[in-house]
Amino acid sequence: MPVVQHGPRDRKKIALTFDADLTNAMRKRLTSGRVKSYYNAELIESLRRLRVPATLFLTGLWMEQYPDQTRDLAADPLFELATHSYDHKAFTAKCYTLASVAPADMLTDVRRAVTILDRLDPDATRWFRFPGGCYDGRALHELAPAGLTAVQLDVAGADGFARSPGAIVEQVVGNAQAGSIVVLHMHGGDNAPFTGKAIEPIVRKLRAQGYQLVTVTDLMRSDRPG
Ligand SMILES: [Zn+2]
Repeated sequence: MPVVQHGPRDRKKIALTFDADLTNAMRKRLTSGRVKSYYNAELIESLRRLRVPATLFLTGLWMEQYPDQTRDLAADPLFELATHSYDHKAFTAKCYTLASVAPADMLTDVRRAVTILDRLDPDATRWFRFPGGCYDGRALHELAPAGLTAVQLDVAGADGFARSPGAIVEQVVGNAQAGSIVVLHMHGGDNAPFTGKAIEPIVRKLRAQGYQLVTVTDLMRSDRPG
């Protein structure tokens, strides 16, 4: 499986990407009512209002929970959709606090997510993001037959740990450069509560610095515009 870390550094383009995590533990918090939603509608509305193209990496479990929202996002030309595993288990033995997928199950896990996405989005991309950004040679080898390309990052928005919108803005704007792939999250809820509030200042500041915000596909396109 090929891996992309960032785009060309000689063009003022940045890709904002948003992961939709859902684990079984998170789903329990949904069904028990402890968390109202893991769809950050405020964030998506802001992206639409500001006309920001974005690449969305969705877990299979999230798409099963939010099929109508997935179709709605798929139908919006601003967004391109990609996969983020079935239920957000890690593809290495150790990756933060995530449970792991056994190597023998890796391909099945990823194909399960791809099948769900393809059913909801006929134009789905072949991009894939590893949960937690964790991978090794074994994972790349196991996943090679899936025909996907892993999209890593060079700017972690750290919205999952942020205690204020300002911290996310500072983290993203302070670290983004030409060709950057920025990771943020679109599940909101208790896991990423401030992303929706941070996105407008992030977009405003990056655009004021002359950056064009694009999808990963646009960022990685080899031909130059014009
Ligand atoms: Zn994730």
